[in-house]
Amino acid sequence: MIASIPSIPVARPALGEQEAEAVRRVIHSGWVTQGPEVAAFEDEFAAFVGATHACAVSNCTTALHLALKAVGVAAGDEVITVSHSFIATANAIRYCDALPVFVDIEAGGYNIDPNLIEGAITPRTKAILCVHQLGMPCDLRAIVEIGKRRSIPIIEDAACATGSEILWNGQWEKIGKPHGDIACFSFHPRKVITTGDGGMLTTSSPEWDRKFRLWRQHGMSVADTARHGSKQVIFEDYEELGYNYRMTDLQAAIGREQLRRLPGLVRERRQLVGAYCAQLSSIGLSLPIEPKWARSNWQSFCVGLPFELDQRAVMQMLLDQGISSRRGIMNIHLEKAYSSHNSHRAATLLDRSVSAQEETIILPLYSGMTDIELLRVTEALRQHCAEAIKDGPLLIS
Ligand SMILES: *Cc1c(COP(=O)(O)O)cnc(C)c1O
Repeated sequence: MIASIPSIPVARPALGEQEAEAVRRVIHSGWVTQGPEVAAFEDEFAAFVGATHACAVSNCTTALHLALKAVGVAAGDEVITVSHSFIATANAIRYCDALPVFVDIEAGGYNIDPNLIEGAITPRTKAILCVHQLGMPCDLRAIVEIGKRRSIPIIEDAACATGSEILWNGQWEKIGKPHGDIACFSFHPRKVITTGDGGMLTTSSPEWDRKFRLWRQHGMSVADTARHGSKQVIFEDYEELGYNYRMTDLQAAIGREQLRRLPGLVRERRQLVGAYCAQLSSIGLSLPIEPKWARSNWQSFCVGLPFELDQRAVMQMLLDQGISSRRGIMNIHLEKAYSSHNSHRAATLLDRSVSAQEETIILPLYSGMTDIELLRVTEALRQHCAEAIKDGPLLIS
């Protein structure tokens, strides 16, 4: 690599002075674990997405665990989901001693194919866990309709989808406004907003919200803040098995700043994707399609490679020019942790899921990405595509 060319990362968290200042404020307050900042972050997040309840937790994986537990997923149950996702989606199902049942993704996209869901339902199906992959809303209207008709709860893995929107009864609504039963978000640095690590559950059910609050704090009957603020001695009870899934006030203070910046961050990402699409439309890559009823936050920008191009070679060519990329989203069923027969069930062929991993790459996209950086990526691809197609056996339309 030529040292004078600055490298282009695949992603970069949008953290600055405001976040640093927020953490300072919390440190000097003397209260650093789950407390008033978490409560404020929850209120602000609920208002932002349009949910009545938002409960902050340590990350999205723990959020998924609590969501599945809340709808009653337990040993021997089945949960329908996709293999084409980050492994945490299916791991959370296994934490409940339940079986992930994989169906394939749609043609021309990276989300669950709603047409395959009904065929995967059995008497043991306890939930459908759909994913808004890469920030692109999945077809919630179709999925929620199946859930209602078959009385199966819908949990949304919205890890990547903070700030994404869906057209719902003629209105643009945020993912997380309860369309399904519970939505789970991630604030890992690879997502659009971050708290280092962190997660959030939104729902319209006060009963489930109460459960989340109990379970995230060891099953303890009294919150720390209530005990510390009380003028009377309070002894807590432990009503049932709980976990330590708390978010800290340090994280929540960062989250509040990030949430304020989110609309601007999404606007910027949508502009960058517009520029990418304009540059890449004519070189033979398959560009992601945003359905008319969806507005992605573009957590990731994933493009399909033409048949002539080898994924690893393209990624190496980019890396040689100082440009990071990632291959397409993984397939959970291909991992060793899922090799045993009782780890999952494939209810359909998973061909599209496998192709999506092998024949796509994720390109750099981050707040502050310049036009010049974007052009460096698109020009590298343009040149590579032109050479490969010249040498290759097939023409691309
Ligand atoms: C990132 C991610 C998760 C896990 O989120 P954490 O906050 O890191 O636990 C789960 N599902 C999907 C689809 C993700 O992209």
